[in-house]
Amino acid sequence: MNTQPPLWQRQLAEAFSSVAELCRHLQLDPASLPLLPHCKEFPLRVPRGFADCMATGDPADPLLRQVLPLQDELAHYPGYSHDPVGDLNAAAAAGVIHKYRGRVLLICTGACAINCRYCFRRHFPYAEQQLSKPKLQQALAYISARPEIEEVILSGGDPLLLNDDKLKALLDAVAGIPHVRRIRLHSRIPVVLPARVTPELLDTLSNLPQAVVLVLHANHANELSADVARACNGLKQRNVTLLNQSVLLKGVNDDCQSLLRLNERLFSIGVLPYYLHCLDRAAGVGHFEVPAQRALALMQCLQEQLPGYLVPKLVKEQAGAAHKIRLA
Ligand SMILES: *Cc1c(COP(=O)(O)O)cnc(C)c1O
Ligand code: SF4
Repeated sequence: MNTQPPLWQRQLAEAFSSVAELCRHLQLDPASLPLLPHCKEFPLRVPRGFADCMATGDPADPLLRQVLPLQDELAHYPGYSHDPVGDLNAAAAAGVIHKYRGRVLLICTGACAINCRYCFRRHFPYAEQQLSKPKLQQALAYISARPEIEEVILSGGDPLLLNDDKLKALLDAVAGIPHVRRIRLHSRIPVVLPARVTPELLDTLSNLPQAVVLVLHANHANELSADVARACNGLKQRNVTLLNQSVLLKGVNDDCQSLLRLNERLFSIGVLPYYLHCLDRAAGVGHFEVPAQRALALMQCLQEQLPGYLVPKLVKEQAGAAHKIRLA
């Protein structure tokens, strides 16, 4: 009898959860860094494979910057709030966010495999929003009653954090709604925990009658290791459409060279760029903001250097708008 949890769950359990331990691994002296004294509500969480893509001894490493809790998070920036994109207003039923025509977002779980310091969902009341069994029934009823909903987007948190049985049950239930034509997952897990892309997961996805789209979330070429490439290849072989969204982040990818490398690397592993998001203005993330002027200049640079299909759309989310707003 095999009672070992799957590799990805063991990797998840072994993820770095202490700043001191991560610093030791990277040969950095925590005393030399302007660290946040406490971050209990949104603690450090970094899978070891992701940490292995960081350079040692470099406090400015673009992957480290995404996960290291710094004192900068305490600074107040005008216009930054706890619900910057109006999701709480758009919560249609428990766990369902219906903001755009034809598409609904299902919040499957509040948890993620990695905690990204720039995340706009860091203040989201997940305990109220995640899908328990009765809430799942309500969410499915909401979708079933609205034939205009053609696409269901599993989001979170990270939907791939659900175990195979739960995920399969959820996907099969969604797939059983006759007017749902497309199923989309938004997940950072194939990038930060590629071992999650198991043969069982590939079977589950490829057995769905609907078209399946997986929107990855990578912000820097250094995140896209050989393991990530293998996971993407497996998905691609099962006809999953692979797209990527990034967030434009100061000190991480706010230079043309990094963005060129990211989008070229994405293509080389079978993923097309989709969105480059301007930061959502959540309290505590203001130090990551790239001014709009700079964002537009970066887009210009990408357009001059890349084929059109490798240039992501620069967008921002605006509370109350009917779609994401394109800049440029
Ligand atoms: C981003 C988002 C979507 C998907 O929008 P697309 O432009 O189709 O990618 C759907 N619902 C919500 C609430 C969103 O934030
Ligand atoms: S929702 Fe996405 S950006 Fe936010 S912490 Fe999770 S993986 Fe990171």
